[in-house]
Amino acid sequence: RDLVSAEAEGDERLIEAALRPKRLEEFIGQARVREQLSLVLHSALRRNRPPDHVLMSGSPGLGKTTLSMIIATELGVPLRITSGPALERAGDLAAILSTLSEGEVLFIDEIHRMARPAEEMLYLAMEDFRVDIVVGKGPGATAIPLEIAPFTLVGATTRAGLLPAPLRDRFGFVAHMDFYEAGELEQVLHRSSRLLGLELPGDAAREIAGRSRGTPRIANRLLRRVRDFAEVRAEGVITKEVAAAALNLYEVDAQGLDRLDRAVLGVLLRRFGGGPVGLSTLAVAVGEEPETVEVVAEPFLVRQGLLARTPRGRVATAAAWIHMGLTPPPDAFG
Ligand code: ADP
Repeated sequence: RDLVSAEAEGDERLIEAALRPKRLEEFIGQARVREQLSLVLHSALRRNRPPDHVLMSGSPGLGKTTLSMIIATELGVPLRITSGPALERAGDLAAILSTLSEGEVLFIDEIHRMARPAEEMLYLAMEDFRVDIVVGKGPGATAIPLEIAPFTLVGATTRAGLLPAPLRDRFGFVAHMDFYEAGELEQVLHRSSRLLGLELPGDAAREIAGRSRGTPRIANRLLRRVRDFAEVRAEGVITKEVAAAALNLYEVDAQGLDRLDRAVLGVLLRRFGGGPVGLSTLAVAVGEEPETVEVVAEPFLVRQGLLARTPRGRVATAAAWIHMGLTPPPDAFG
């Protein structure tokens, strides 16, 4: 499953660090977000004050961490990185907040997964640059207010809707990151090839981009697999055919579907005539947990218009039959 997963795994973080754009200018795509952010940053620089807190929402691998690093670089301030799950107790957050330097950018990834007490501490910190440290327990407990340096919070979440309203409302700017167009992914691939010292012809870039699920992280990963394949099987020369052969070998098809995605569609079409069929029945037929099918495979199939979730169950669309090279039964869409 690794190949088209949008999450970074293991060593991948190191490789990714080398491929990250450092300045806003180098950041490809997301034109609207880039322009909005550029305004926010420039006006902050002009006023010589930290900008409003920024919330970035969007799927994994679209560049949220990269943008938070760019924000710090453009402002010329240090960056602290943490994540919601790491902030289990309010004390975890207090330790970070109380050691921030003036103007520092604090990036909290998966901010929707922060524990409640930490979240409440964050409200006050975002608004008044202050935290209340509670000393003692029970009726004798007292809150000691502690000033913290003005900072900029950059929060990242997979869906802005997951955030409690009081937290969401404290961000001055919400950047909605969309999946990338094929042309933008081609630019990402060309840029990465330059950095990796690879020659990537235009049609090969197009071939890889088309299979990358609108996600730069996946595009970069597929590029590395194509490079490996080219080195071993094609004397290091990447062509469109080499790229296609490599990705076919890794079972990433022309639309970016992997083995699990194709298994789900295959079972839905061949065994259940295109549905409707319930999630658990479908999962058993594929030999996976229902949650895996629902969380890992379905969102992309739905996004590609290949599968619909209906009250009566999962249904394949006409496009699914075409994509899998199968003929629907005569009454399928009547
Ligand atoms: P997220 O934090 O949203 O999961 P990251 O910022 O870690 O995503 O990005 C994943 C990888 O994709 C990084 O290696 C980064 O270099 C690359 N990437 C993401 N967005 C862009 C972009 N707009 N231009 C070039 N590379 C990008």
